[in-house]
Amino acid sequence: MIYLDNASTTFVCDEAKEQILNALQNYFGNPSSLHSFGLKARNELKKSRKDLSKALGCEEREIIFTSCATESINTVLKGFFQIYPRANKRILTSKIEHNATLKTCNYLKEAGIETDFVGLTPDGLICEDELIQKLKLLPGLISLMHVNNETGAITDIKRIASLRDEFSPESFIHIDAAQSLGKLPINTKEMGINYLSASSHKLHGPKGVGVLFVNKNAKIIPLLHGGGQEDSYRSGTENTPCIFGFSAAMRVAHTSLEENLKRVNEIRDTFLDSLIKNAVKFQINSPELSSPYILNISFFKVKAEVLVHILEREEIYISTGSACSDKKKGNNRILVEMGLKKDRIESSVRISFSRYTTKEDVIKAAAIIKNAVLKF
Ligand code: PLP
Repeated sequence: MIYLDNASTTFVCDEAKEQILNALQNYFGNPSSLHSFGLKARNELKKSRKDLSKALGCEEREIIFTSCATESINTVLKGFFQIYPRANKRILTSKIEHNATLKTCNYLKEAGIETDFVGLTPDGLICEDELIQKLKLLPGLISLMHVNNETGAITDIKRIASLRDEFSPESFIHIDAAQSLGKLPINTKEMGINYLSASSHKLHGPKGVGVLFVNKNAKIIPLLHGGGQEDSYRSGTENTPCIFGFSAAMRVAHTSLEENLKRVNEIRDTFLDSLIKNAVKFQINSPELSSPYILNISFFKVKAEVLVHILEREEIYISTGSACSDKKKGNNRILVEMGLKKDRIESSVRISFSRYTTKEDVIKAAAIIKNAVLKF
């Protein structure tokens, strides 16, 4: 089996599994309990918070555990205007955001919050001139993804923050880092951002746990009220087994981040070289500035959905696009937004690698793709 759909989710790594089992067996206490079982769980929770704060370059008190990136994103977008009522009721975002952002923005329209979209350059990156014009209509909230889940396009967050400082210094920045945490270097302080959202299951941690970074100088109104866990930012007994699993996966990802990035770059190049050696005709849809973990590619005259099913029969798993979007057949809105032609969009697939993908995997996948493509 060759799994190349890591942008939708990843398997749970051994280190995370071990911590999950350990938590189920030995740390089952409620971290809010006063007795020793509570204390044991509380101490472990503190260690997990430390791991996440190290990975994000922030303080432990700036880390809030949630159930997923979607919850973190919802918390920021819905909570921001309640805590900062004097901000213009505007969210500045882009049309290539994940639905967790776009649908929350749609919902917020009812509450009188307008969404403004920054357009893209022809190579799929945020258009800076337009961003500057729109920043002048704020202060409010800027919410952008770090890495696009369909194409891997990278947004230069430091640059966004410096434009914010110049043209709209009172605005706040929220980053959707679901596809970059544990894959690209992130330092919330150096990036100059106020909020960040991500999920554990994209970096070989378990599902059911996410993170929300809230800068100590920023605030947020919680989505969930109750027992006051997570410094009252997110009530509900913490999902300790999954949080411990998340932090174990994060530790592995963070300690070898640069090494993995280099290796995954090589894996992507090996895959493309193997396609060329096999005389497979393709066009790369991912922009030049993109994460090597995500490759969006069109195979000439090949229907993407059919290709996905042919490969599945050979136990190779790729995707026609985001598994968690409600994208209609052949209508990948990100590629449409980039202005690609219909044929090219209909033949586009997303191949996404992980730190565990091997050269042998991608060489074999390329050979099987060659045979599949010959059938069209
Ligand atoms: N943002 C991006 C860029 C994503 O790729 C995803 C999931 O694919 C999400 C947000 C939502 O993550 P989750 O489903 O874990 O909440």
